[in-house]
Amino acid sequence: MMQKEKACRNCRRVIEKGSECPSCGSTSFTTFWRGYVLVIDPEKSEIAKRMQINSAGKYALRISR
Ligand SMILES: [Zn+2]
Repeated sequence: MMQKEKACRNCRRVIEKGSECPSCGSTSFTTFWRGYVLVIDPEKSEIAKRMQINSAGKYALRISR
């Protein structure tokens, strides 16, 4: 199955379109990722803190390539 969503190789932010990561500005993406977390409020989220995420969005848990 093809995933149209891609994950930023730098901060793992998952986006559907565009060529630049809205979180870190990176242009390096991969479609080979698995699992994700939705961060609504990064300041209140333990997972966000652990993953060092500072902006709301969808983030890949694993990036394989
Ligand atoms: Zn990024």
